[in-house]
Amino acid sequence: STDDSVELLADGIPQEAIAKRQTVVLNSVRKRNSPLGYIRRGRVSSVVASPVMDGRFVLGVLVADSRRTGAFTGADVKAVELFSNQIARVLQRQRIHAEIERSHTGLKVLHDESSRLITSLDLDSVVQNTIEGVRRIAPLSIAFFLKSDRSYELMGTHGFDPPDKRKFSLRNTVAEVALKNRQQMYVPNTRGYKLPILPFDAGSVASTLILPLFYEEEILGVVVLLSGEINPLSSYQIELLEVLCNQATISLKNAMLHAEIKRKAITDGLTGLFNHRHFQEKFNKELNRFKRFPRPFSLLLIDIDYFKKINDTYGHPAGDAVLKGVARIIKKTLRDIDVPARYGGEEFATILVGADKQEAVRTAERLRTNIMTAEFDAEGNKISVTVSVGIATCPEDAKVKEDIIDRADKALYHAKETGRNKVVAWTESLGKA
Ligand code: GH3
Ligand code: MG
Ligand code: MG
Repeated sequence: STDDSVELLADGIPQEAIAKRQTVVLNSVRKRNSPLGYIRRGRVSSVVASPVMDGRFVLGVLVADSRRTGAFTGADVKAVELFSNQIARVLQRQRIHAEIERSHTGLKVLHDESSRLITSLDLDSVVQNTIEGVRRIAPLSIAFFLKSDRSYELMGTHGFDPPDKRKFSLRNTVAEVALKNRQQMYVPNTRGYKLPILPFDAGSVASTLILPLFYEEEILGVVVLLSGEINPLSSYQIELLEVLCNQATISLKNAMLHAEIKRKAITDGLTGLFNHRHFQEKFNKELNRFKRFPRPFSLLLIDIDYFKKINDTYGHPAGDAVLKGVARIIKKTLRDIDVPARYGGEEFATILVGADKQEAVRTAERLRTNIMTAEFDAEGNKISVTVSVGIATCPEDAKVKEDIIDRADKALYHAKETGRNKVVAWTESLGKA
């Protein structure tokens, strides 16, 4: 305004131009009964009011007035309209520019995070990268769940302290509704929802966005955003988050496949124990560790007694079932760090980390008893077996891999020779035999 005391009222000529979305010209205000529509110093006799339009939307109104009656010619009116059009265009350009800039920033975040996601084959990194990407697009509270069997494992959070528990059922939560519908679900205002969003307290929640992670038909997990504010997200942010989560799903699947392949490469297919190759690697590692940090460890070689008879009597599949059963007991009796492995056909091996001879014998006896007292259900037959165990301890019996194995093997042979179903630890006298 050229006059700083202008004040727009509720009703009048500019208001009429806004309502009609058309220029209004009045060359003699006094003849008109309705109000001018604004207060300004001095007299106003003629008015031109032209709305400033961005598409269908009225951004403002440009008003020219004069003290003179009949001041505006057709050319003047055209000039006012021209100005209002120019103003509209400038404002429009500013709006579009801001939009482009916003989408540029958004797409850049998306690009950065997507590349980070693609390059990672590690499950935890994919989870962390996804949370970081979501946070950059929408700085709200975030919870990332991975599906594991029937429950959901909370893999990471942002913006609130995770509960102590890790695995949750999402039954009777809003998150479950989104998962069932297999669709993202934005609840800009959770008031009126009876169900909790999540099965635990994540601070005050007024809105939520739930993004299920689907790979083809398979649910891999779900990302949940929470906010204490009502309607905190624009449709543009939600769109970006959807694209990011699609990328995360693919990366998750890749990481899961990678982990599965890695697991398979070290696992015996029949028994689920470690395979021979992985056992050898762990054995080498244990020996290296021993060199730096001399703490004893023992090797157990476990061989099923008269196993051939089981195959001959009940058939090979029954033999396989017994192998699985024995492996299960070995796994249950030993600690994971003891690397229980299938060494050969019906032979098993394990390194008892930190165990001297005495402790190794104790553990082996426990194992032998557990196996002896078990009954395996094999192809409809109830089968019991016994095992013989040979033990060698490092450094007491030997310090070189081949020698340790050789001593344990000799001890095992001795156990077989002297009646089977027994534990024999290597001693010097066995070497002389
Ligand atoms: P012992 O050890 O007490 O001297 O007698 P054994 O009968 O167990 O002796 P041996 O080591 O000679 O026989 C092992 C048998 O285990 C031979 C083979 O047919 C069987 N075997 C090896 N691997 C498998 C397998 O994966 N499945 C089944 N069903 N049998 C297997
Ligand atoms: Mg054998
Ligand atoms: Mg045998």
